[in-house]
Amino acid sequence: MKEITKAYNPQENETKIYRLWEKSGYFNPDKLPVPSADRPVKKTAKKYSIVIPPPNITGELHMGHALNNTLQDVLIRWKRMQGYQTLWLPGTDHAGIATQNVVEKELKKEGKTRHDLGREKFLERAWNWQKKYGYLILEQLKKLGCSCDWSRTAFTMDKNYQEAVKTAFLHYYRKGWIYQGKRMINWCPRCQTSLSDLELEYREEKTHLWYLKYPLLSEKKHIIVATTRPETMLGDTAVAVNPQDKRYKNMVGRQINLPLVNRRITIIADKLVDPQFGTGAVKVTPAHSPVDAEMAERHNLPSIQVISDKGRMTKQAGKNFASLTVLEARQKVVDEFKNQGLLEKIEDYSHQVPVCYRCHTLIEPLFSQQWFLKMDKLATQAIKAVKSGQIKFHPKHWEKVYFDWLKNIKDWCISRQIWWGHRIPLEGETDVLDTWFSSALWPLATLGWPKKTADLKKFYPTDTLSTARDIINLWVARMIFSGLEFMKKVPFSDVYIHATVLNKEGQRMSKSLGTGLDPLELINQYGADATRFGLTYQTFAGQDMKFTEDNIIMGKKFANKIWNASRFVLNQTGDNKLEIPNDKQIASSKFQKTLSSADKKIIKKLKLTAQKMTKELDNYHFGRAAHLIYDFFWHDFCDQYVETSKKQNNQQTKQVLAYLLINSLKLLQPFMPFVSETIYQKLPFKEKELLMIENWPE
Ligand SMILES: [Zn+2]
Repeated sequence: MKEITKAYNPQENETKIYRLWEKSGYFNPDKLPVPSADRPVKKTAKKYSIVIPPPNITGELHMGHALNNTLQDVLIRWKRMQGYQTLWLPGTDHAGIATQNVVEKELKKEGKTRHDLGREKFLERAWNWQKKYGYLILEQLKKLGCSCDWSRTAFTMDKNYQEAVKTAFLHYYRKGWIYQGKRMINWCPRCQTSLSDLELEYREEKTHLWYLKYPLLSEKKHIIVATTRPETMLGDTAVAVNPQDKRYKNMVGRQINLPLVNRRITIIADKLVDPQFGTGAVKVTPAHSPVDAEMAERHNLPSIQVISDKGRMTKQAGKNFASLTVLEARQKVVDEFKNQGLLEKIEDYSHQVPVCYRCHTLIEPLFSQQWFLKMDKLATQAIKAVKSGQIKFHPKHWEKVYFDWLKNIKDWCISRQIWWGHRIPLEGETDVLDTWFSSALWPLATLGWPKKTADLKKFYPTDTLSTARDIINLWVARMIFSGLEFMKKVPFSDVYIHATVLNKEGQRMSKSLGTGLDPLELINQYGADATRFGLTYQTFAGQDMKFTEDNIIMGKKFANKIWNASRFVLNQTGDNKLEIPNDKQIASSKFQKTLSSADKKIIKKLKLTAQKMTKELDNYHFGRAAHLIYDFFWHDFCDQYVETSKKQNNQQTKQVLAYLLINSLKLLQPFMPFVSETIYQKLPFKEKELLMIENWPE
């Protein structure tokens, strides 16, 4: 028997064990032992594959990653033990805007902008950054115990991946689904690029409603409009009221002399106007509001751009305002209205405003020439795939988010005015593609598409996709229609949407807000198993998780319990050359005759636990599976049977103890791989070289 210390020390064992697994090569499905009598496989499916949601190269492991990757590792380890050829394919995303921002920040420290460097030199810097820091987050996944096949690590700007993106773009282009057009888009004045609707976040803004008096042209009367953005009045081309609004019945069609710019504009009636807002009369600025642009199209109004893509006032705003910032212009407009006695009143007002999801700058709606991908046919296919049950969401209610978006879909603005990313593969184009255009190809491109590789043939479609709710539309939906378009097959059969990890107060965990726990610190302090178990134990379908350090401490105590119980069993059995009965022998009447009723009871309970765990994992009920093994090991095995065994103290009892221990370790392996493998390596009666390829108990 190998020496076994009194307390389990994760720091001492985890690196060693991880190295042992890596050395075995078994993370790679090609190196796994071929299924045999010894390594049986279910006839229905011989492979099981997952592609990792690729973290951004700018990313650092947070609790959401820790949870999601633990759950994927549970699935992969469990399936591997069931005899499947398992592939968990890892990789990273180049994360266009996010990475460009990081590199720009570095440059800023040197007092430079990307324009000082020029495109080529800037891209060189970005690649260097990627080489230096781009794999940090994958190293952090190793600390968590993730059994990914690192030999297949992918990156969304690999050479083959570039080929995939180009092929996909040209495929759509030749079909006539990609077109260029001048449309109102979301513009981030800081990142200097367009963004899709899905790339916006919303923030509560406490601001004011300014009530401005616009004089009518023919009589000494005013119409009062309320606005949150007085500076945009310089680009007004109409005032609108609701056609049902009796207050303004006689005003429609009259002319106004627009203050400060002396432009004649007309009062129009349009159903988009909300009579409850302000005075019921609103200014119309087609160049700077999507709603106003819609009205302008109906009423044939001109569009005057008074804010530039840099977030400053344009020449068209008039020489008193040109080149002011938006906020400077706002103040000046308000002052002028006041001076002229045209400011009726100011009210406090708060509303939701869109900000850039990467830099949180206020979004400016602008008319701009961009590339779009037609979505109608792609969306129809994607809806059908889920409606028909080819793809199932777990929990099912997330399907609604998916359908709601696809049913109301607009064409996808796929061009971005940044440098880091996949350049649009057309002559003379300098824009790059939306980073999600390449992410949408992840399950195919990582397996070698557009080449017809052996991996693509064997592992596509993949099986489970486990991801966060906030990218169901940004990413999951787009992978589904891309898979259907290019492979004629869905990219995965099951989508598992994991819980959001919240802190004790119910706030989202965020490093920048200081409201979170750092998984790496937890792993250093309590061990990866404790962290994994603490997370898995709390995972119940559809519920957000209020997470505290206590959960990890519970996991740590459990790891110690497993360690101590194992020490006891090894002390009982270690000196003897024990024959461990297999399931068949255990079931034989010859062996059964020698057993006490306590022996029989615990063996039955073990079998039942294993069966229930399989069923729960089949349904993605991770928490329930974790509770089953916890309760069995702690209460049935340690509290009861170990005590009974001390009284029985005979050869059969020792055999039963060893049998229970080895089977418990197998059931624990997907959840707590380090401590279970560490103990397994010390067993004198182990069956295979590694616990990670042992057979899952049925
Ligand atoms: Zn931005």
